Amino acid sequence: MLDSTYEAWVNAVRDAADIVDVIGRYVSLKQKGKNFWGLCPFHQEKTPSFSVDPQQQLFYCFGCHTGGTVYTFLMEHDGLSFNEAVDMLATEVGIPRPQKSENTEVTRHFSRLQAVMEWTQEFFQISANQYAEIFLGYLASRQVSETARKRFELGYAPKSWNALTQFLSKHGITDAEMLEAGVAVSRQENQGIYDRWRHRIMFPIWNHRGQLIAFGGRSIEPDQEPKYLNSPDTPLFHKITVLYGEHLARKFWRQGRRPLLVEGYFDVIACHEAGLGQAVASLGTALSKEHARALARYGKEVDLLYDRDQAGQEAMRRAFMILSEEGVQVNRVTLTSGKDPDEFLREKGLSALAESVERRIPYFEAILEERLANSPRQSARAKAELVEGLKPFWNALSNPIEKAGYLELMARKLQVDQSILAQSFGLKQGNGHISPKNRHNMERIVSKVKRPSYDVYLLALLVRHPEYVGKVRETLPEWILEHDLTPVLDNLEQGKSLAELTSQIDRMETQVRRLVLEALAYDGPDGGPRVFEDVMQAIVRQRDNARWKSLIARLKQGEDSPELIREIQALQSRLAQDQMTRTSAPWDAVRIGKEG
Ligand SMILES: [Zn+2]
Repeated sequence: MLDSTYEAWVNAVRDAADIVDVIGRYVSLKQKGKNFWGLCPFHQEKTPSFSVDPQQQLFYCFGCHTGGTVYTFLMEHDGLSFNEAVDMLATEVGIPRPQKSENTEVTRHFSRLQAVMEWTQEFFQISANQYAEIFLGYLASRQVSETARKRFELGYAPKSWNALTQFLSKHGITDAEMLEAGVAVSRQENQGIYDRWRHRIMFPIWNHRGQLIAFGGRSIEPDQEPKYLNSPDTPLFHKITVLYGEHLARKFWRQGRRPLLVEGYFDVIACHEAGLGQAVASLGTALSKEHARALARYGKEVDLLYDRDQAGQEAMRRAFMILSEEGVQVNRVTLTSGKDPDEFLREKGLSALAESVERRIPYFEAILEERLANSPRQSARAKAELVEGLKPFWNALSNPIEKAGYLELMARKLQVDQSILAQSFGLKQGNGHISPKNRHNMERIVSKVKRPSYDVYLLALLVRHPEYVGKVRETLPEWILEHDLTPVLDNLEQGKSLAELTSQIDRMETQVRRLVLEALAYDGPDGGPRVFEDVMQAIVRQRDNARWKSLIARLKQGEDSPELIREIQALQSRLAQDQMTRTSAPWDAVRIGKEG
């Protein structure tokens, strides 16, 4: 059972973290009314229906109905357990866990997987000693120093199909656990399992908190394919969220160093050797939105240092686009020789690499210079083509001041009048980056979501006016039962604060939670006691209509019991009377109340 110290700690951590701040790292949010709005990360959408309420510290999506507290968000978004979400946030806000918590099924499961990773790491270390000649020989050829080898805890996977799996099963790890942790692969037709990696240099991969979550294996022989073989996605490892070296780099980012994005394991290591501890790499995948948001949290600027080949340049262009979208200013670091940072370091030495990073230039400027250098003769047509080619880069930028600066730069370099250039980039005045069309969509959605169902509206009124609860208990007892609202209404009637209500949200059943969240998110007009009566009647009517349909269906199926006939007659006369007394829909009353 949950004890009260634990409960108090969970609440303290939640209160210390700002939900807008936490969610804002993953979703770009804009304030509109009392709430913040953005595109929902849990379903595909083009117009924002995802809202974050800073007062109540809740979020809710009107599209897919995902919602809850900051914990719910981290659980849903990062696939964390409740305990992990609390732990993660607790570390960030600096409120340590009071004592050993209860060991739930989920945390046990995660700590088992964690154990598989630790034993696997142990095995790669043992093998590195055992086959020191191969292991150290390869690292020497890549000029990896002993310091770097130890800091990054490099290991070796031997040439064997079952050395690792046998080692792990000796330590009580089951086949199923090895498969789930991604260190073993299942043979065809379930004929047992075998080691994922053979004859490779092994790189342990940590998450940003320094927990071991995966491995990457580098081939040793030139013809050994693939060159890099990483862990698959597992419950511990989500490739698109992990940056290699982040647990080390964060310290430097906090000290104000710009994140430096490179392409591979050896590049990160090379940068560390050169004193550039701020370097990280995405793992065998292009930079994702999730990566970009993590980086955006730490710096307004990010430096890119990619391979000089075509693939590297293409990857850098994509990284620029994604980072710019998150409002990050992107710089390009150019190396004068070598194909990648690792090779450059070996050719030119430590200080040359650090100097190159210092000589970074804004990415857009670098592209402009490159294009200018490629077409030295500036005919009118060449200029027009050049401008056309720059448009996608320019459009990707989200900082209006930066954009204005480049406009000026282009005008100067191309000797074209700035106003003509502005016109060709589709600029009129203002430069606000919400286009009129998007703004219109935003308003449309917000006004649409402000009109909730009668159920939601009634509950919203009850939250504002707990004095109505008694009346609802009298008139709509089935409604309360059906939506499982008894505990919520008890709380409201006892005058408990909203904070207390919201602290229970994570433990509500999905359906109740959805209703409560939507009611709490409602910030439209109130309407007063008359509208309250109208809404109750509307719900009665809805229920009557539904009941009517089901009774008639039974009648049509040949049922003709006296009870059925009696109920139909009673309902019929009630519906007829309602038809006569009914004036206008409650929503109209709300609108009249609002405008009048
Ligand atoms: Zn959604």
